[in-house]
Amino acid sequence: MNIAVCVKPVPDPGHYNRININPETKLLDRKGIPVIINPVDKNAIEAALQLKEQCGGKVVLVSMAPPDTVETLKEALAMGVDEAYLLSDRAFAGSDTLATAKILAAGLKKIGQLDLILTGSESADSGTSHVPSQLGELLGLPHLNHITELSLELPVIKMKAKIENGYVEYEGRLPMVLGVAREINTPRYTTLMGVVMAQNKPITIWGLNDLGLDPAGTGLSGSPTQPGDLHFPRHGRKSEILKGEPEAIAGKIIAILRSAGVLA
Ligand SMILES: Cc1cc2nc3c(=O)[nH]c(=O)nc-3n(C[C@H](O)[C@H](O)[C@H](O)COP(=O)(O)OP(=O)(O)OC[C@H]3O[C@@H](n4cnc5c(N)ncnc54)[C@H](O)[C@@H]3O)c2cc1C
Repeated sequence: MNIAVCVKPVPDPGHYNRININPETKLLDRKGIPVIINPVDKNAIEAALQLKEQCGGKVVLVSMAPPDTVETLKEALAMGVDEAYLLSDRAFAGSDTLATAKILAAGLKKIGQLDLILTGSESADSGTSHVPSQLGELLGLPHLNHITELSLELPVIKMKAKIENGYVEYEGRLPMVLGVAREINTPRYTTLMGVVMAQNKPITIWGLNDLGLDPAGTGLSGSPTQPGDLHFPRHGRKSEILKGEPEAIAGKIIAILRSAGVLA
């Protein structure tokens, strides 16, 4: 069974205060911001590794990201992924969700025969949840998102998907594209042996020409949606520190609440 997992490197939330949006290009300026594997993509990796343990085969990772994310992807290799494909080209910068899905679909097609394609349910930075269904449509495969349970009784795959007020159970046949939710499992930790082995696992980098893509269909020029005006919310909350004896502070609080109309 050949499984591909789509993994998005995202800015480390510990450094969100250092991320800026360029007002001209409306793109994130991530220079110097460490990246991590999108957290729910680790659940997708875990699901793939468990299926490999059950059925045998291979788990590959596919990521569209800048070249300096190779080290981040090695963490997935250390978890047990067999090989990685990094889709990276300047022409991909600024891709919206559709252009992203087109690039990922081209990479997945080039890898060859795949029985299952797993993604996370949403990314931690943009979080549109568009990519899993766009991939399914572009690859001509059935697709579901927000999967919380998965079991394989070949040729049947059984799935439970989260919806607003509950769950829906599905049965299907592979190949499929599935977006997994955090509830599906607990991702395994990387071991020292895994880290050592990851150093020798293959990482293939493909650019625009390798994927046979038209530059007009990728990046900003290939993105039908683009951000409009940016407005930064103003946090104008008024605050006042009350000092003094507790009784005096209590009196001041009551006076403030009265003047605000909260107390009669
Ligand atoms: C400032 C800013 C403006 C943006 N403006 C727009 C816009 O106008 N229109 C628009 O469509 N998008 C816009 N985006 C979103 C941006 O294009 C996304 O980063 C990208 O297209 C993927 O979408 P997502 O992160 O919402 O993926 P989701 O659909 O939320 O991701 C679901 C899953 O898909 C997989 N996946 C997603 N991206 C990748 C990847 N690169 N490599 C491998 N797997 C991946 C992962 O498994 C992930 O868990 C903007 C982003 C920013 C930061």
